[in-house]
Amino acid sequence: MSALKCHCGSELPFAECCEPFLTGAAIPKTAEVLMRSRYSAYASLNIPYLKTTLWPKNQQTFDTAAVSEWARTSHWTGLKILETEKGQETDRDGTVLFEARYLSAGTLNTHRELSRFRKKSGRWFYVEALDLPSN
Ligand SMILES: [Zn+2]
Repeated sequence: MSALKCHCGSELPFAECCEPFLTGAAIPKTAEVLMRSRYSAYASLNIPYLKTTLWPKNQQTFDTAAVSEWARTSHWTGLKILETEKGQETDRDGTVLFEARYLSAGTLNTHRELSRFRKKSGRWFYVEALDLPSN
């Protein structure tokens, strides 16, 4: 039995955190949980999951090769959820502000994004990145 901790930084075993979402055994109930599972998908190179959790209309322009290349050449080192707004089980939309750190070509980078999520037929989807609030 593997007790590897989840990629998303929850400190839970992968099998009890994002793995059931990545395999399709379970569906994330909140926008934040979906966000975490998408980070884990990047970290574990599960590109199909990144596509299926994208808002259906946006899937047409999903560039599998480019996303796969970015995920493959980056070493994902940590996820920090900074802020969430709505995105709970009873909501239909929500946003998550997060920072994902990764090493690429020997440099540590931080990808900070405010993501918008929407629910359709009981499932959360990632819609798009919004403009970051100025700070
Ligand atoms: Zn996780």
